[in-house]
Amino acid sequence: MPRPRLNEARTKIVATVGPACDSVSKLAELIEEGVDVFRINSAHGTIEQHAEKLANIREASALTGFPVGVLLDLAGPKIRLGQLVSEPMFCPLGEYLTFVRGTVSTRPMEVTSSYPRLIDELKIGDRVMLADGTVALEVENVTVDNAVCRIVASGEIRSRQGINLPGVKLSVSAMLRTDIENAIWAAQNEIDFISLSFVRTPEDVRSLKDLLNSYECSALVIAKIEKPEALDNLERIVMEADGVMVARGDLGVEIDVAETPVAQKRIIATCKQFMKPVIVATQMLESMHHSSRPTRAEASDVANAVLDGADACMLSGETAIGEYPRQSVEMMNRIMRKTEERALPAATASQGVIDPANRMTHAVARAGMEVAEAIGSKLIAIATHSGGTAWVKSNTRSLIPTVAVSDHLASVRRMNLFWGIEPMFCEHIEDTQHLIEHVTRWAKDQIEEDGTLVMPGDTIVVVSGSDVIANANNVISVHTIG
Ligand code: PGA
Ligand code: MN
Repeated sequence: MPRPRLNEARTKIVATVGPACDSVSKLAELIEEGVDVFRINSAHGTIEQHAEKLANIREASALTGFPVGVLLDLAGPKIRLGQLVSEPMFCPLGEYLTFVRGTVSTRPMEVTSSYPRLIDELKIGDRVMLADGTVALEVENVTVDNAVCRIVASGEIRSRQGINLPGVKLSVSAMLRTDIENAIWAAQNEIDFISLSFVRTPEDVRSLKDLLNSYECSALVIAKIEKPEALDNLERIVMEADGVMVARGDLGVEIDVAETPVAQKRIIATCKQFMKPVIVATQMLESMHHSSRPTRAEASDVANAVLDGADACMLSGETAIGEYPRQSVEMMNRIMRKTEERALPAATASQGVIDPANRMTHAVARAGMEVAEAIGSKLIAIATHSGGTAWVKSNTRSLIPTVAVSDHLASVRRMNLFWGIEPMFCEHIEDTQHLIEHVTRWAKDQIEEDGTLVMPGDTIVVVSGSDVIANANNVISVHTIG
């Protein structure tokens, strides 16, 4: 059954592209299983390699007929270890590891970093975390040439691994040269979403938006929340960004891992308040790197993200380098659907929401949802140019499947991140009757599975405008399938 389908999870799936799914046929398979947005992680590879991935994604999209979205993830000011003299290097408890200037270390227990000012900005007592938080250091002495750190948690380190400095205020800029080059490439290649890692302030988000504006790029900017400073400035960052990612991989090293579940809930709640889409990321089905089935805890993690109100969940290594990429997407999709159908509360009026959308759009989209809920419609069809009306419906969290038809391909791809919205492209819609025919034909083609089949006598609520798509929506009509 081609996508979009009536029986899909409403919560969206973002999947990271990597060697495990780097061919057109494998990407097409993942789209069939339910991937809505592919992430290209710019921390790995060159622009030529990103371009190759993008070409494959576009081809898979054409092959499946599904306008999948594309997110380019910018590495941001991530600091990395330089080349070590031996690999891996064990860091024993109580011993010392010394940061020196330059890019090459000359003896064991001596390390360098990709950030030239690191030694100048470290202070006695600062914490340095290596190897995803397994190795912890405390700065004991700083001189002009080096910073001596005592190992307080032991483990193995490798060259070019990330360095996390929880709570250390660094003067490193929000984007490095490669981020700017990647962002410009994204702007010139119709990328739909651009995420920025290690955001600390709303100004970090602003600087990326300004750069994209100068290239007349309308990609949505996603702020990755993975620094304690970002939690301190959360409201202002959410207001500035077009969307947010709960980047639990680094967040769980930068703050106490015990605090990440509550931080996730706070970030999602703030996004709901400001009506911004939010993605929950990292380790969602971690054990599926090497297992065809997830742990109970992982199944609960996906379900709880849905219940917290996430618009999308992300797969990282599971699809990029894992042994079971297809099964990971299929499993995530199934957990989402079961959770949505059995445990999500009925749609309610979202009071107190700060709504940036136009008031008529908001009122008409909500009223359309209420009509559909009241008469038990099987489907809502929304005509939308920019996707704004679909976003309002998304935020009502009504479970009624919703098709959003747009004549603007970029809007169609962006709607892939909107919870409960099935985006559909239609080059030209003559009138509301034409829209109804278009959507009904699609709905009738849906094979029955779990009782989602649209039958004669079922109703469809159509939200459109006098000009169908072009202007603000001001018409709600109810159509009965013949
Ligand atoms: P990353 O971001 O995979 O680019 O590090 C996500 C995270 O930190 O959780
Ligand atoms: Mn990260």
